[in-house]
Amino acid sequence: MNANLYALFAQGFPSDQSRCCIETLDQAYYSYRDIERASAKIANLLSSLNLSPGARIAVQVEKSPEALILYLATLRAGYVFLPLNTAYQRQEIQYFIEDAEPEVVVCSPKHFGWVSQLAFQADTKFVFTLDATSAGANRGSLLDRATPMSDEFETVHRDSHDLAAILYTSGTTGRSKGAMLSHGNLYSNAKVLHRAWAWQENDVLIHALPLFHVHGLFVASHAVLMSGARMIFLAKFDAERVIQELPRATVMMGVPTYYVRLLQEAHLNRQICQSMRLFISGSAPLLSETFHAFAERTGHTILERYGMSETTMLVSNPYLGRRKAGTVGMALEGISVRVVDEHGKACRQGEIGGIEVHGPNVFQGYWRMPEKTAEEFTLDGYFRTGDVGRFDEEGYLSIVGRSKDLIISGGYNVYPKEIESIIDDMPEVDECAVIGIPHADFGEAVCAVVVLKRFETLDGASIIQRLKSQIANFKVPKQIHIVTELPRNAMGKVQKNLLRQQYSTSI
Ligand code: ATP
Ligand code: MG
Repeated sequence: MNANLYALFAQGFPSDQSRCCIETLDQAYYSYRDIERASAKIANLLSSLNLSPGARIAVQVEKSPEALILYLATLRAGYVFLPLNTAYQRQEIQYFIEDAEPEVVVCSPKHFGWVSQLAFQADTKFVFTLDATSAGANRGSLLDRATPMSDEFETVHRDSHDLAAILYTSGTTGRSKGAMLSHGNLYSNAKVLHRAWAWQENDVLIHALPLFHVHGLFVASHAVLMSGARMIFLAKFDAERVIQELPRATVMMGVPTYYVRLLQEAHLNRQICQSMRLFISGSAPLLSETFHAFAERTGHTILERYGMSETTMLVSNPYLGRRKAGTVGMALEGISVRVVDEHGKACRQGEIGGIEVHGPNVFQGYWRMPEKTAEEFTLDGYFRTGDVGRFDEEGYLSIVGRSKDLIISGGYNVYPKEIESIIDDMPEVDECAVIGIPHADFGEAVCAVVVLKRFETLDGASIIQRLKSQIANFKVPKQIHIVTELPRNAMGKVQKNLLRQQYSTSI
């Protein structure tokens, strides 16, 4: 059997290939037949380049249906797709190109000059722009080159352990690492999520996520392709546009910030969400406040799930059954998840420990980092996620933070999430982040960076005062900084490393 992910998706494409797969806001429609033919043309082009087996195709382009089709073409031709965050600048791109050594780099026309220079210095064989949208930039448009190619292509045979993609992690805790994902990893997760979230051919997904990350590229797009369903493609998230599209959609996926922004729109109401069956959140923690406010306004309970570049999705709240605020749910089918103490011993229910995972979704290792890979796997083959959490009495997992964010103050463990939740619950507070900063006596001291709601006033001393009556003294922040916003990356993750850098010299 051909385990090529595209071949497996294609088996489930609708029998009526004229059905729409991708629709854009300017009313361009891409049917399943269009997807098949356009990806065949690009796959023919890639195959004509005489690349080495396992060649990486690095892609840093704005979101478009063609960008997704290029991903599918890469799968079909048997190469390895390597998407790159569109926000990355010269130095970052240089790191990725030098680290991954792609044979093909595809960039947007406006970056062609400096990207091609970097790529050729690193001996990249081919540099293309995806299309020639900016006048005069058509020095090597991939789509132009693919146009004369045949629109038939026999999808290359791949085994399930062959690499399909290298996904660089978001770099929240340090330098991004390339997670190597196989066709089998991605297919197993697509299949599991298809069942878990009850996808059907008549589903319409609001796809507002970027395509360079696990959430938008895999979770969202795969769900649609697995089901022969349709997606409405937004080049980027725009709350007003989403609200306009909601009445004809059935599913939406987003990072928590999207839900916060939707709630800021006065038009968000039950009526608009009538055709919707599911709102999904992930990539960063969803505040209970957002969960409850969304339910109250729309009648929909957001389904929160948990995943990462290395494993795609591993835990989800149930589609049927209770979705609990502040939890990410239970292990998905065929995936085992455990919480262990520092000696690797299983924690009792309710106890906090490191989250580990085993299953067909778990990646093949970090690209060219065999030692790091070995370090992150246990002897019995579980991957150490680097996240810390606990299971409740009903088997729902809560994430309390990342092990790297754990604060050890005077020998005591402090879990930032516990303090964040209490500060977040103060009526004047919009959100906050709790970090550890070096302290001469305690090793580390707790520090909270707080954003207040508009028109509210509250000072650090009052926050400390209130906390003293609720938590042990060693957990009470020694410092509070009131700021206007928290630094976030493209996926809405708070960048605690930046906060630590900023505040660590101040004690
Ligand atoms: P790096 O590994 O480079 O530090 P990263 O871990 O942020 O970056 P990703 O793989 O994009 O890179 O993100 C996965 C992480 O996102 C998870 O390990 C977890 O910490 C966080 N995450 C994902 N979903 C959720 C969720 N629902 N709630 C809380 N955290 C989540
Ligand atoms: Mg990570």
